[in-house]
Amino acid sequence: MSLNHVRPWRNIYRRKSRQIMVGDVAVGGDAPIAVQTMTNTLTTDVSATVAQVQAAAEAGADIVRVSVPDEASSKALKEIVRESPVPIVADIHFHYRRGIEAAEAGAACLRINPGNIGDEKRVKEVIKAARDHNCSIRIGVNAGSLEKHLLEKYGEPCPEVMVESGLEHIRILQDNDFHEFKISVKASDVFLSAAAYQGIAEATDAPIHLGITEAGGLVSGTIKSAIGLGNLLWMGIGDTIRVSLSADPVEEVKVGYEILKSLGLRHRGVNIISCPSCARQGFDVIKTVEALEQRLEHIKTPMSLSIIGCVVNGPGEALMTDVGFTGGGAGSGMVYLAGKASHKMSNDQMIDHIVEEVEKKAAELDAAQEAAE
Ligand code: SF4
Repeated sequence: MSLNHVRPWRNIYRRKSRQIMVGDVAVGGDAPIAVQTMTNTLTTDVSATVAQVQAAAEAGADIVRVSVPDEASSKALKEIVRESPVPIVADIHFHYRRGIEAAEAGAACLRINPGNIGDEKRVKEVIKAARDHNCSIRIGVNAGSLEKHLLEKYGEPCPEVMVESGLEHIRILQDNDFHEFKISVKASDVFLSAAAYQGIAEATDAPIHLGITEAGGLVSGTIKSAIGLGNLLWMGIGDTIRVSLSADPVEEVKVGYEILKSLGLRHRGVNIISCPSCARQGFDVIKTVEALEQRLEHIKTPMSLSIIGCVVNGPGEALMTDVGFTGGGAGSGMVYLAGKASHKMSNDQMIDHIVEEVEKKAAELDAAQEAAE
């Protein structure tokens, strides 16, 4: 339960954006911030792509993007959409035909820049296909592929040129009376991204898709994204996010959720609070947390668990968590339930026991949630 009314320093005031639909997922307005990822299989390899989409959805992805570079991929997209448990965004670059094919194949959204797909007739055809098939559009401005005329005007990628590029694409959609769009202004540089996003957030009420592009590998990309996206989200900017990592899409989803969880913007699964451990630990904190992370992956109910090595911080952390364990002496520790010391448990049975306690608590919380609905 949020206690932000008594902890105002935790409040984040989200920018008010228009709401659009990406398939059955609402994006913008007061909708939860959606977590996205992108497949990295060959789109023509339908079974591999569907498996990746399903794994990402299982990890919590609300929306998944798939590249559509050629006609064969458009054909494969139809099957992928049919098998996918979540809405699919088709990633299109330059080819207006791919845009039309993707809309016809059932994509929930096209990631396409209308200014880059040719003359007005082509633009109109893509917009018509999107409209006819209930398909929204994401304008995806990227510092690495800005329009030549704008780069000549500004000299180099900068926040202003990214905002201007975004507004040019927006104008094309609006001139065609198409308003079901969201926008991103990504750069691999955190400062450039953050400034461009702040600029576009002021210039439009369109929902904003956040991302730091080409962020890097699992560790460096996670840190870069946490800083870039974290700061923007903290400012209230962002309606959907994608963490770009040179890693499995499932990792992108996990990192995306962790960023949202850290800011209290979305909750899913068990939020484990654990100490780094030191010579005072009453059990092996690091190994225990590793094991629990795996054993509790199936829990989707938002809840908290503290795993703390000793009484220095254990009882204090346990006060604020649903389930807690604090190391003690003589090979056992204390289990806390709803913040209160409940019973002792030996270290060698503790992992199985904590899993049981968490499952029990999750079932209780689910039942309470159902009763409240
Ligand atoms: S809670 Fe205890 S075991 Fe954990 S880091 Fe602090 S002093 Fe060390």
